Amino acid sequence: KSPKIPIACRLSGLEPLNITPDSLFLNIGERTNVTGSKKFLRLIKEENFSEALNVAREQVENGAQMIDVNFDEGLLDSQSSMHRFLNLIASEPDISRVPIVLDSSKWEVIEEGLKCIQGKGIVNSISLKDGEELFIRHAKLARAYGAAVIVMAFDEKGQADTFDRKFEICKRAYTILIDRLQIPPEDVIFDPNIFAIATGIEEHNGYALDYIKAVSEIKNKLPHALVSGGVSNVSFSFRGNEQVRCAINDVFLYHAIQNGMDMGIVNAGQLSIYDDIEVRLRDAVEDAVLNRTPKATENLLTIADDFFGESKAKGAKKDLKWRYWPVEKRLEHALVHGVDEFVEDDVEEARINYPGALEVIEGPLMDGLNTVGDLFGSGKMFLPQVVRSARVMKKAVAYLEPFLLEQKKKSGREIQAKGKVLLATVKGDVHDIGKNIVDVILSCNGYEVINMGVMVPCNKILEAAQENKVDVIGLSGLITPSLDEMVHVAKEMERLKFKTPLLIGGATTSKIHSAVKIDVHYTNGVVYVQDASRSVGIVKQLMGRNRHSFLNSIKEEYENLRVARTSLMEKKKLLTFDEARRNRFEINWKITSPVEPSFLGVKHLNNYPLEDLVSRIDWTPFFEAWSLEGAFPSIFEDKKFGPEARKLFVDAQKLLAQIIREKWLTANGVVGFFPANSVNDDDVELYTDNQRREVLETVHFLRQQHIQPEHHKNCSLADFIAPKESGVADYIGMFAVTSGIGLEKQVKAFEVDHDDFKVILFKVLADRLAEAFAETLHERVRKELWGYVREENLSNEELIEEAYRGIRPAPGYPACPDHSEKKLIWELNKPQKIGIELTESMAMYPASSVSGYYFSHPSAHYFGISKIQKDQVIDYAKRKNMQVEEVERWLASILAY
Ligand code: SAH
Repeated sequence: KSPKIPIACRLSGLEPLNITPDSLFLNIGERTNVTGSKKFLRLIKEENFSEALNVAREQVENGAQMIDVNFDEGLLDSQSSMHRFLNLIASEPDISRVPIVLDSSKWEVIEEGLKCIQGKGIVNSISLKDGEELFIRHAKLARAYGAAVIVMAFDEKGQADTFDRKFEICKRAYTILIDRLQIPPEDVIFDPNIFAIATGIEEHNGYALDYIKAVSEIKNKLPHALVSGGVSNVSFSFRGNEQVRCAINDVFLYHAIQNGMDMGIVNAGQLSIYDDIEVRLRDAVEDAVLNRTPKATENLLTIADDFFGESKAKGAKKDLKWRYWPVEKRLEHALVHGVDEFVEDDVEEARINYPGALEVIEGPLMDGLNTVGDLFGSGKMFLPQVVRSARVMKKAVAYLEPFLLEQKKKSGREIQAKGKVLLATVKGDVHDIGKNIVDVILSCNGYEVINMGVMVPCNKILEAAQENKVDVIGLSGLITPSLDEMVHVAKEMERLKFKTPLLIGGATTSKIHSAVKIDVHYTNGVVYVQDASRSVGIVKQLMGRNRHSFLNSIKEEYENLRVARTSLMEKKKLLTFDEARRNRFEINWKITSPVEPSFLGVKHLNNYPLEDLVSRIDWTPFFEAWSLEGAFPSIFEDKKFGPEARKLFVDAQKLLAQIIREKWLTANGVVGFFPANSVNDDDVELYTDNQRREVLETVHFLRQQHIQPEHHKNCSLADFIAPKESGVADYIGMFAVTSGIGLEKQVKAFEVDHDDFKVILFKVLADRLAEAFAETLHERVRKELWGYVREENLSNEELIEEAYRGIRPAPGYPACPDHSEKKLIWELNKPQKIGIELTESMAMYPASSVSGYYFSHPSAHYFGISKIQKDQVIDYAKRKNMQVEEVERWLASILAY
């Protein structure tokens, strides 16, 4: 006799998950979602699936009872990523023991996922957005694959935002699924949309309450169905203030769960207990969540300031117990915690106790630094902390300097560094944040560093290396032409019979390039350094006894890479340039005709108010620059990086305020619009005026040549401009902005203070302001200066996600990788007049500068040129009236031969 099984949603990974009426609230982990986690996105983009698996594992370990998996991102092949990731999960029992929530807005991707998972997962989501027919089809398919479904409260009219609409849509869906399709109601989970409250817009005030009411109505009127939702949306307007944000999430969840919410996508580690929230904050939050007074948002904003980061009272009371420790311990504490307040007193005390200044450095200070090195090496300290330690060390050494000199005079003894490293950013390149970080880390580890700065010509580097008898030379570069300069340095070293190992680092460099293009020219060791934190390990090896076997093993590795690459290139076929052109991206110019800009020609924007840029800053790359991985603002809650990220953010806010107050930086910009049409498939002609008879200049673009999946095109940016023969009058824009004017003067002032930390922080912030300026200007271009969308209203997050119409591709980036095309922007827009110069390698100077084109067509999008063939290079050289060899130098990193 078959048993009677009580009705319940029964899911499973390797283990069952039964959701019965007395189940507690279920956490769905949100981290394996490329839209929710920048880190996860980066890992997937880099195809670092093994690290991505760790993200999944960590979630399960932290208590997620299911995991939400999402690969919806423009540049990803979401379908194949889903396939690959889920298959990898399948062989990890500690992950696949929980059910999987397949999350995508594309059905193909969900279906791909359904084919991969075992057990019973959840489809997230289906909806009535595109009508009943598609809804039914998807529901049946989900059923056939044996999954439960999340139904979004979304219909032909849009997403439901009020209580009535939420319930009405869920009820309609329920009737279709349960009454018509006979799907068991316990396998249907509704998501009645959680939207942000306290945004300042009145209609939003009721969003949380409407959701809570909808939960209760669904649970009462639609038997056995479950309710879910993405919780952190509700507090979106308080991003950056995590304490308030969490309070909103917790209060909201408390009420939603009381009303029957069964599960939600949450950051499990972040939830706290309703009763633990400070009463004053909780009351204000509750007013907002339950929409109890029209003043709720205002009140919440007023008290929110008191709850930023660690509460003020706590921050003010410093723990000074350590001041009673012996001086060696005090110095160690100061170094490890980056406290420079007392360091001079402590060093003086040590100097008196020890035979001399030298012994203080070689003794307690070095010991302290070794502790820092060990903690950093084992992942217990992070980059910003190490840089703070370096500041303490530098102050200590600066204080001891006169005593050291005296001691040297008397006894002839000097500090014995573990080795000497020369660092330089190569000729034509201006970027040095990463290299300065390497400097700090190596110095902190007892190496003497000769940092030659930026734009250093080869002969200067090699002269300094010989003169100082350095043990290692490190080259850095950010833009493609720098690769070529590095090759040149390597050849020169070979010619001059250098013995010094050569380190290669910086954003444009790679292991494969170092192996294929640099290593072959230099016999005595080329080592690619992936990031600053690896520099110590590598230099240590190079200074050690096993240096030769280390270098040999690297030579061997690079040789293998070269061989592997050759066979890979033979396998990877590309289209011919003609074939690629035939598969161009076609636009129907009759549908959206181009809008004429409000002016033609060039406008300068000098002295742009910095305070207007602050709200447009994208903070995630700020933390990235400090090797703190995680999206802003959720990084503040990260277990590993959270505390340091918060501290760094507070320092950044302070310095930013000072930059603005003291006018340390000047922001200038230039923007121009020109009548334009595309010609010969890949070029864009700019005309002197709207008559379009006289060609002013021609911009040259490249076209993708890799074989595309079905229905995908081989794009060139020129495809997004109306062809001349179409007779459609189109336009293109160009811009350049900088926020780097005044930077160097201020950096010098910080350097006098031995404050590396401030120097790096300042440079990173200047870069952020430049990007924020580009974002702000782009918005003004869309709404006003070009004016092709007048009624745009996007949040900073949406701007960062580039949810707007049109693009601003930058020369040197994947869609237009030729840096030399910047020259044209400089000829037409004259950014040199507002203080931005181009170096011989086409780097912008000062470094905190951004330039690019504006495309207005709604179909314009970013893409990557990837690799191209010689046939295109020859054609391109002809169009540009350049030698093929010269073109090949500019395009070195994208040649497929
Ligand atoms: N919010 C980010 C924005 C910078 S990255 C920040 O603050 O750092 C985004 C910019 O890089 C784009 O606006 C564009 O100028 C450039 N970009 C990105 N992808 C590109 C591509 N495939 N081709 C050309 N330019 C690209």
